[in-house]
Amino acid sequence: MAFDYDLFVIGGGSGGVRAARVAAQTGVSVALAEEYRYGGTCVIRGCVPKKLMVYASQFSEHFEDAAGYGWSVGETKFDWATLHANKDKEIDRLEGIYQRILDTNEVTHYRTRATVKDAHTVTLDDGTEFSAKHILIATGGRPFLPKVPGIEHAITSNEIFLLKEQPKRILIVGGGYIACEFAGIMNGLGSEVTLAYRGAQILRGFDDDIRSHVSAEMVKKGIDVCLGMDVASISKEEDGLVVDLNQGETRTFDAVLYATGRVPNTDGMGLEEIGVALDKNGAVVVDAYSQTNIPSIYAIGDVTDRVQLTPVAIREGMAFVETVFKGNPTKPDHDLIPTAVFTQPEIGTVGMTQKQAEDLGHELDIYRTAFRSMLHVLAGRDERMLMKLIVDCDTDKVLGCHIVGHAAGEMIQLAGIAVKMGATKADFDRTVAVHPTAAEELVTLK
Ligand code: NDP
Repeated sequence: MAFDYDLFVIGGGSGGVRAARVAAQTGVSVALAEEYRYGGTCVIRGCVPKKLMVYASQFSEHFEDAAGYGWSVGETKFDWATLHANKDKEIDRLEGIYQRILDTNEVTHYRTRATVKDAHTVTLDDGTEFSAKHILIATGGRPFLPKVPGIEHAITSNEIFLLKEQPKRILIVGGGYIACEFAGIMNGLGSEVTLAYRGAQILRGFDDDIRSHVSAEMVKKGIDVCLGMDVASISKEEDGLVVDLNQGETRTFDAVLYATGRVPNTDGMGLEEIGVALDKNGAVVVDAYSQTNIPSIYAIGDVTDRVQLTPVAIREGMAFVETVFKGNPTKPDHDLIPTAVFTQPEIGTVGMTQKQAEDLGHELDIYRTAFRSMLHVLAGRDERMLMKLIVDCDTDKVLGCHIVGHAAGEMIQLAGIAVKMGATKADFDRTVAVHPTAAEELVTLK
């Protein structure tokens, strides 16, 4: 049977565009549909604009710290509109690159919504239908908003990048990646930040020492971290958004940002109707090769809710192409994924937490150090770095490496190679320290 395309990709984010490009490079015919902007969550309203805002927010501390190094910094002033205009220009540039990648690789692209009609047919918004030998669902996810009275007054990470004015007082609800990153960003930019997390400690899933360390450092920087706190209702009054908190308290804010997780974008895609299995949260169920229960349909990235990280979606897309178009069945490797959280201070982590290793029955040696880095000494800044290695007693293997502090994200990329290669504590120890750095502590832990 002849198809219009060998591959039709739905979703032009990092995973979809990468899969389309590498598939096209094998010589097959590829189309892609994207309903919003090329680049997806990461480029348009996630990792990239977030990181630019992290950089922007760090200047307030740099200005403060400069005095200890002999600099006099005059009056400083932050302009929200300038940052956003420059950030938008950069995102436009990156979106252009994504589009050019599709063009130069001869991927036919449609800037419209697409749904699935059957195992081999995609329908565009205007009713046009295309047949495809394979369909790849790469539609990502979107913020989840719980049902709370007045939730329509809240914003999510999608809208914060579009606000015309900086909120002076902001409530951030949630204790995960996005909530904690935005708490640091908005605090650094000069907003008054309250973080309300329903649990006992932020950043559930991370190592407990990391969680308490970051939480304490965030408090030191002036963020009001409220644990065991949730929102009962939000109402719009003259003075701002009045929030009833579950502890019987009412506070007023200029903005309420919900960062309470993300859900897969499968609504109205036609997937359930044609029998593609979805899990209870609406994520597409796939096997180790990203194949759904309908053999011609695959899915990658956040829509599968495996690991919600851009580089993972990209790897899944490339493994899909290896499997389907290069005759080389390849499973994306989800083991030992290093990751950074751009909190302030930053987190870098790879491998098991102490609790995970204990629960698996490992006998452990724990190496931990907390210290003030040289960077902060002359500045007189009371901020401490934390480094922790989780080592299996029997094999000496490093099961987990956790870092909090300046450049932790950069460090963990490299420590991640060692951990992925199965490095032992003895391997760390026999590596000569790079002096003077903060990272050298990793090879001198006693
Ligand atoms: P997370 O899953 O990390 O955190 C969600 C937070 O919201 C948790 O603290 C959760 O609490 C809380 N929560 C969930 N439901 C409710 C509710 N009904 N009421 C109150 N609180 C609630 O999601 P994020 O939205 O922060 O981020 C989504 C994903 O995006 C991350 O998991 C990550 O994979 C990715 N990401 C990665 C980044 C990076 O690599 N630096 C940056 C940003 C995002 P509880 O813990 O109690 O469940």
